[in-house]
Amino acid sequence: MSTDSKSSHTFVLGAGPAGLASAYTLSKHHHQVTVIERESQVGGLAKSIYFRDFILDCGPHRFFTKLPPVIQLWNDVLENEQVTVNRLTRIFYGGKYFRYPIQAKEVVFALGLRETFNILYSYLLSRINHNHAPQNFAEWVISKFGKRLFSIFFEGYTEKLWGIPCTEIEAEWASQRIRGISLSTAIRNAVFGNSGKVKSLIEKFQFPRLGSGQLYEKICDRLYSQNQPVLLSTEVISCCHDGSKITQIVVRDRHTGIESTTDCNHVISTIPLNLLIEQLHPSPPSEVIAAAQSLRFRNTILVYLIVDSESLFPDNWLYINDAKVRLGRVTNFANWSPDMLPNSANTQTPLCCEYWCNSNECIWQESEENLISLAIQELRQINLLNQETVSDSFVLRLPKTYPVYTNNYREAITILRNYLTQFSNLQLIGRSGSFKYNNQDHSLLMGIWAAENIISGGRNHDLWSVNSDADYIEEIDLKLIDNTNKLYIAKNITS
Ligand SMILES: Cc1cc2nc3c(=O)[nH]c(=O)nc-3n(C[C@H](O)[C@H](O)[C@H](O)COP(=O)(O)OP(=O)(O)OC[C@H]3O[C@@H](n4cnc5c(N)ncnc54)[C@H](O)[C@@H]3O)c2cc1C
Repeated sequence: MSTDSKSSHTFVLGAGPAGLASAYTLSKHHHQVTVIERESQVGGLAKSIYFRDFILDCGPHRFFTKLPPVIQLWNDVLENEQVTVNRLTRIFYGGKYFRYPIQAKEVVFALGLRETFNILYSYLLSRINHNHAPQNFAEWVISKFGKRLFSIFFEGYTEKLWGIPCTEIEAEWASQRIRGISLSTAIRNAVFGNSGKVKSLIEKFQFPRLGSGQLYEKICDRLYSQNQPVLLSTEVISCCHDGSKITQIVVRDRHTGIESTTDCNHVISTIPLNLLIEQLHPSPPSEVIAAAQSLRFRNTILVYLIVDSESLFPDNWLYINDAKVRLGRVTNFANWSPDMLPNSANTQTPLCCEYWCNSNECIWQESEENLISLAIQELRQINLLNQETVSDSFVLRLPKTYPVYTNNYREAITILRNYLTQFSNLQLIGRSGSFKYNNQDHSLLMGIWAAENIISGGRNHDLWSVNSDADYIEEIDLKLIDNTNKLYIAKNITS
């Protein structure tokens, strides 16, 4: 039975993909909704940034999904404002670039016969002594690829990203992220070919014409046109409760500092899970606070460079697996949607260099000037830049971008979930909000489902099950793009 839409006012905390998908779905069903966002723009980590005449994203934001409700939302909102982008992504290792997903032919040519033999030998060993229950990321990858390929293609990048040895990262992270790819598939494809099928699967993706943030700006425009408020630069500072419901939300206007308190009916939170626990009033029991404090997030520093040169390299982005540089990934926005560049842009290339760190590391506090110098120097070291001039640059620091699956996080999440289920009008969604390593589509699905739970007056959807599905695979099927250039729901999709 549906709830009475008039009495059902929902507060959505955070205007990233998850929060906006909730607000969009509720508004479509004529429910009243207010979105509260601490930043001055919507889109969360998937927002686009406007710099001079460039549109830049927060690193690469390739959109991919097989989830029908997400495809529906994507097409409803973007309509024809989507382009098909050719995908090229490579891994830099040992002074060479390798296509990702790995192609066996290339490995043989680039690494030579001796190294190829080592790779095959260690792969064979991993098949003979197969580890059926890998306990951590290193064991998971070795069980699929063998030790040698693990150290060439995965170890360096992964340790840069997470800042801890691969043996301390939960296997669950790998199984969520490296699916459907195996050495045997790569070898089979290289030797026997794949009738064109697998090749085409990975070479194109759909993307908003004006950057990843366009989807979220369009949702926001729709909400405004339906008189649904999206309060920007407004921070949630406290959530009051009576032990069974969230009763009031306290927010602060970040420009004026003025605080205000509002009664609430339903709450959908996408703000970091540990922050929400801190903001509950009265405070939760000490073991719940301790569990929240044990959750770890990794930060991202983005160094944007406008280089006075056209098409420096053909990739959308490059993984930098080489341990000689701290740089982890480089995005080249010249190879995404042409409308993200100024009309005259062929003479300049916008790059985004990613560095990952914890809040207590020196690099997080490093001056903008030093970070820009570091990025330029490292790009020269790996031959992505030569003597080209960098004519403009800026730095963006993004806290809490990656939930870290280590440190007994599973036990902590169980404690937090058990505690928070007592609040019947609160739903937790999103990447930081539910501490899940979500892509946009997972967050969008969580948002849609949370809204549908309110619309139906029940809890039909289990939000915690999103992004735990091991069958979800990383490759895009071209059949998902129809001749009007939109994503469509293929009949044979099951996940
Ligand atoms: C470098 C990088 C590259 C990525 N690449 C891809 C990719 O290629 N493809 C892909 O699909 N995904 C990618 N992602 C992941 C994608 O960005 C996230 O999945 C998505 O943004 C998660 O959406 P969300 O709404 O769950 O969380 P967020 O985007 O984090 O949004 C949460 C929102 O809540 C707001 N908020 C927080 N605290 C408060 C508060 N107290 N009061 C009010 N508001 C608050 C935040 O400001 C934010 O806007 C990438 C992420 C990063 C960091």
